Amino acid sequence: MIKEITVKSILNRHKKRDDWFLDDYSVNPFTGCTFGCKYCYIRGSKYGIDEIAVKINAPEILERQLKRRALKGQYGFIALSSSTEPYQKFEEKLGITRKILEIILKYRFPVHVLTKSTLVLRDIDLLKEINRKAILPEDLRGRLNHGAIINISISTIDDGLSRILEPGAPSPVERFKLVKKLKESGLFTGVSFIPVFPFISDTKEHLDKMIKLAKEHGADFVFVGALTLFGKGPKDSKTLYYKFLENRYPELVRKYKSLYRIFPMPNREYQKNLDHTAREICEKYGVRYKILVD
Ligand code: SF4
Repeated sequence: MIKEITVKSILNRHKKRDDWFLDDYSVNPFTGCTFGCKYCYIRGSKYGIDEIAVKINAPEILERQLKRRALKGQYGFIALSSSTEPYQKFEEKLGITRKILEIILKYRFPVHVLTKSTLVLRDIDLLKEINRKAILPEDLRGRLNHGAIINISISTIDDGLSRILEPGAPSPVERFKLVKKLKESGLFTGVSFIPVFPFISDTKEHLDKMIKLAKEHGADFVFVGALTLFGKGPKDSKTLYYKFLENRYPELVRKYKSLYRIFPMPNREYQKNLDHTAREICEKYGVRYKILVD
């Protein structure tokens, strides 16, 4: 039985729009996530989220908050979700994410759905309506023709690796099939290869295979981003990921320690190289590396 909590606010306004995700707001209908990805930074000490709970009054609160924003004309993309998976198994019965989409449609806000789950297919009807009816923020009008962006997160095409690192998520093959189905339904759909794993899934060869597959399944865009590792506690991503490395790739531990010596992300040079390689491969396959072309 999933714990139920009530909240006072559900719509988070972001100080600055993210260049990649284009979100001005985010809505997280749940806390925590049953998919249990080892690299997930929402669990553990960074945000102090230790339990899985449903924000049971989220639709009611969102209705109030979005109504106010709509009256002021403060339209902007809503990321659903930024710190939880909006289509966890229990959503099938609960329908909270679906109710949230109904409210987003009612007030004509654009939405950016971020998920690993095939359950998103259930809401294609609503997403298509949002895509047609949403009012884009003024500065994006003319630059983007979609009120709904669907973003499927895939970190590796290695099924065995995915089963260890993302034990509750659908397999990479299922997620690629999901991209195809969403595209076939007419929705603007891309793939986030975030995080790629240094020295494991970040090779040019691996990235080439991933981006090629994304293209073959119809992805409109691709994001590529490196792994981040946070915290020292037993539930923190850094601790869990290092345990995985010690078991499966002990020879890489030293290289990781050097790469993540100071910051939770790899050094600037690594990131620049990754970005450059991903961009080149995207160009080769004719797939957008960002939603908005520079
Ligand atoms: S699916 Fe997303 S939110 Fe859930 S555990 Fe994995 S990374 Fe975290």
